[in-house]
Amino acid sequence: MNSGKRNAKQLVLWMAAFLLLLILFQNLKTTQFETEIPYSSFKHKLRSGQISEVTMRPDLIRGLFKEAERGPQGQKTKRFRTFPLPDPDLVKDMDASSLSVYKGEQDKTWVTAVLINLGWVILFFILWWVFVIRQVQMGGKQAMSFGRSKAKLHKNDKKKQTTFKDVAGVDEAKEELEEIVAFLKDPAKFQRLGGKIPKGVLLLGPPGTGKTLLARAVAGEADVPFYSASGSEFVEMFVGVGASRVRDLFEQAKKSAPAVIFIDELDAVGRSRFAGIGGGHDEREQTLNQILVELDGFEGKEGVILIAATNRPDVLDPALLRPGRFDRHVMVSPPDKVGREQILEIHSKGVKLGKDIDLQVLARRTPGFVGADLANLINEAALLAARRDRDDVSMAEMEEAIDRVMAGPSRKSRGISEKEKKVIAYHESGHTLVAKLIPGTDPVHKVSIIPRGPALGYTLQLPLEDTYLTTKTDITNRLCVLMGGRVAEEIVFGEITTGATDDLNKATAYARKMIMEFGMNEKLGPIAYKKEAGQVFLGRDIVEGQGFSEATAELIDNEVKRIIKETYAKVKGMLDKNRDLLETIATRLIEKEVVEGDELDAILAGAKA
Ligand code: ADP
Ligand code: MG
Ligand code: ZN
Repeated sequence: MNSGKRNAKQLVLWMAAFLLLLILFQNLKTTQFETEIPYSSFKHKLRSGQISEVTMRPDLIRGLFKEAERGPQGQKTKRFRTFPLPDPDLVKDMDASSLSVYKGEQDKTWVTAVLINLGWVILFFILWWVFVIRQVQMGGKQAMSFGRSKAKLHKNDKKKQTTFKDVAGVDEAKEELEEIVAFLKDPAKFQRLGGKIPKGVLLLGPPGTGKTLLARAVAGEADVPFYSASGSEFVEMFVGVGASRVRDLFEQAKKSAPAVIFIDELDAVGRSRFAGIGGGHDEREQTLNQILVELDGFEGKEGVILIAATNRPDVLDPALLRPGRFDRHVMVSPPDKVGREQILEIHSKGVKLGKDIDLQVLARRTPGFVGADLANLINEAALLAARRDRDDVSMAEMEEAIDRVMAGPSRKSRGISEKEKKVIAYHESGHTLVAKLIPGTDPVHKVSIIPRGPALGYTLQLPLEDTYLTTKTDITNRLCVLMGGRVAEEIVFGEITTGATDDLNKATAYARKMIMEFGMNEKLGPIAYKKEAGQVFLGRDIVEGQGFSEATAELIDNEVKRIIKETYAKVKGMLDKNRDLLETIATRLIEKEVVEGDELDAILAGAKA
């Protein structure tokens, strides 16, 4: 930024502010020391010769009068003001009195005073506008003081540097980022063999899971400069500013390569350009385009890595995700119990913990908490302990802090009670056990009761190989697995919850498709009841109808019902018979929160033996 220009602008600002104050002050001063007296009293004083000076305006009379009594310091004079009445003889009266001076004054009513003040305000805005507009219009680089990136450079202060040691509970993400660190440490080593290093890494995950922290740790581990900017900072008032900021950010980073550029909240600029009614946001679009241009423009050999973070990957423009851009995606998920314990450990380092503190217990008490929540928890507890004049933080403060963080604004949707956790565990165990009991289903890769997105828990099944054809048995099996959750809830708690909503939706949709699309139903035969969705115009369906009779529609409904009910009964029998296995899996899940596929196999083998 051109410092002379900035100084000039500031000078103008200060001058305007100073003048404004001056005017205000003067207006105040003149009114403050005047006593207001009624017109009658003014006339009376005039006749008795007390008035010594008068200044007249059409709307106001001001002047000096001598006070009636003599004070200890002799005669005192006082300023007065009064509002005039129609009095044609006033001048005569004044002539007749002992008044020494009387004079007129320019009409300065409060309206004009305000107008004068307003004039200054307007002038001030005009000046400001001229400066800003000029700068933006000048474009180019040297005049772009507004476009100058606000990116913060974090010089590597050896002591305070963030490293992987400061991040816990996200081991998979760390592992994936190791490669980036290795590259940044020694770019030449990687280029020697002609390998291509990813230019862009996208960190995906819910808020507070440590994405920003991880990006910083990558720079810290590799000991390279860290340039960070937030997506929302690019979206400025003026078109073109965001784009030039991006340009500038990359330029700075390239100069000090190897370096890490970090763009937080990428979704603020990277929203799909075609989403939304009424076209895009010009400024955002330009910024996004500039990011794409920069990404395409630099080669891995420059040693600059762009890391971006978002918690809304669903809204990102597909152009950002194309090969050669943000082609490396790193999931940063909420921590499991062990991870939570490690995070608590990190954050309680600077805090004096009481003897009764058991971080493992705390970790068990905080399912669904992310890193930021846990950091907040420790901090709240420390503050509470200080307020209670304690020497250390005890479990009581921790417990209270958990409640506080749970109730906090950021966590409304994430707080999970002990009871809920149990229900979720049995629900997921139900899915898992059914998948294990039916031969030929996709192997269970992982079961988790850590909330992810809208799901409270999930059972992840991965097929052994890609398939393009699905058999009727496959679909029937899938229906069984889907029902497993609800059935387990019913068996164990005698009560069902809303947790199965998504399962039921999916199951119903599957059953309906079996009948209407796949021709997998004996009663309805191999007929496609669903019409190809061609060009759909408004109202076409209404005009053409469903393409099948009311009776067929009823038959379809009845068959869907029958399939679902039969599946439910079958699964219930299955889980009733294997109640002990269900308990085993659920107990382990409650304890560990995540159970991997091979461990699951071991548990089941052990339980059966
Ligand atoms: P995000 O960028 O994913 O929203 P942040 O990185 O800004 O989350 O995390 C906010 C704070 O929470 C961090 O500064 C750190 O103190 C704490 N934190 C979050 N995740 C972790 C973690 N995995 N390990 C340690 N601390 C964490
Ligand atoms: Mg962040
Ligand atoms: Zn489910």
